[in-house]
Amino acid sequence: MTDDQPMHMSPDAFRRAGGAILEWVARYFERIEEFPVLSRSEPGETRSKLPDAAPLEGEPWEQIIADLDRIVVPGLTHWQSPSFFAYFPANASPPAILGDLVSAGLGVQGMLWTSSPSCTELEAHVLDWLVDMLHLPPSFKSTARGGGVIQDTASSATLCALLAARERASGYAANESGVDRRLIVYGSTQAHSSLEKAVAVAGIGRQNLRLIDIDEHYAMRPERLADAIAADAAAGSTPCMVCATVGTTSSTAIDPVGAIGAICREHGVWLHVDAALAGSAAVCPEFHWLHDGVDQADSYCFNPHKWLLTNFDCDCFYVADRAALIRTLSVLPEYLRNKATESGAVFDYRDWHVPLGRRFRSLKLWFVIRHYGIEGLRRHIRRHVALATEFAEWVAADPEFEIAAPAPLNLVCFRHRGSDAFNRRLLETVNASGSVFLTHTMLNDRFVLRFATGGTYTERRHVERAWDLLRTSAAALQVED
Ligand code: PLP
Repeated sequence: MTDDQPMHMSPDAFRRAGGAILEWVARYFERIEEFPVLSRSEPGETRSKLPDAAPLEGEPWEQIIADLDRIVVPGLTHWQSPSFFAYFPANASPPAILGDLVSAGLGVQGMLWTSSPSCTELEAHVLDWLVDMLHLPPSFKSTARGGGVIQDTASSATLCALLAARERASGYAANESGVDRRLIVYGSTQAHSSLEKAVAVAGIGRQNLRLIDIDEHYAMRPERLADAIAADAAAGSTPCMVCATVGTTSSTAIDPVGAIGAICREHGVWLHVDAALAGSAAVCPEFHWLHDGVDQADSYCFNPHKWLLTNFDCDCFYVADRAALIRTLSVLPEYLRNKATESGAVFDYRDWHVPLGRRFRSLKLWFVIRHYGIEGLRRHIRRHVALATEFAEWVAADPEFEIAAPAPLNLVCFRHRGSDAFNRRLLETVNASGSVFLTHTMLNDRFVLRFATGGTYTERRHVERAWDLLRTSAAALQVED
């Protein structure tokens, strides 16, 4: 490129390149069932196809697109495949993709209200919609004393909850002078590992995380929590935060939030509720019970990027008292001062999370809610719950297999009646086939397979084929033995 050539794509060239990329993504969806769900790439394989140095001059756009197929696709595990049953889903949808595209096109940075007012106000408004849609307590609304904010992930939401809890427990002194007392944090033994990470990052210390015993359904035992809090307080420590999980990662166990909330109230402990996956289900009236007791919580989060058709990343984090969060995370350098902030009439979302800068993420959520409508989202959740329920019935009816945990939503934990080693081999075999991807967990010290329905395009035939593969693979492995 010479100095007199235009550096950037003209609007027309952008239209053509953008059209080609949209076509490529649409074609990807059409072809997705042709690929092995779990990537077969070897370590270093993707890098070996990349040149040692970046190109000195710009390359033709066609070549860049072609390299998506040559370099990127072989190294993908196909999260949007209808036969992806691993972890929890990260379901994308066309309206969310388009929302992200608009966000990238606008390129705004919504750190302050004044840095893009619609970025802040659309987010506050859509998150208020979700309070009603998910039967969450009205105190979480921005029109009340609370409010919601989009974080990248549930891990960040838990960290922010813990930072606010730490500040409140220390009389808002920890930010100034460090943590001068022993603060204790509680979750069940099934709490997500992000709690442990948050405890470490917040400077509370991993040894001050208490993992509370669970019942036969893998839910926290509130009486054990009460005992632990009382013992810590008696020993001179300060119980700081409890993280209750609605829908644990291993098995979608539901902690008794109401009972836990009552204990937190009694001891003045911050209650954070992590409903990363399960929260989305409460869009259906029959799953409103998932949020029973959440009115006692100081904070709450769920991930539309898991089960509400919204592309990663999008976690909705709510607080009942936004003043505590803002006081914890607010820093105002001279170069960010402005009239709107000083008026006190606006939210500056930089005060609601760790980073300063932020993308216009509410666009994709707004597009999703408007495209599907509440009824469309309910149909989406019900379809996956029905598929998981049917899968669980097949497992329960087969004498070779057993159900390993209650399956209230879209995750079925199950195992072959053989040894742990046999179940491991079974998992490796079905995943190596390329037809499905499942992951595992340990429950009750036993190796358990997890089958999570929730892919945007998953239909009954995919679930049926997966079950068929599991049964036939188990039979073949038994013959080999
Ligand atoms: N909490 C729960 C209950 C989860 O299941 C997960 C992930 O599966 C997380 C937190 C972490 O999610 P994220 O990737 O949004 O941090």
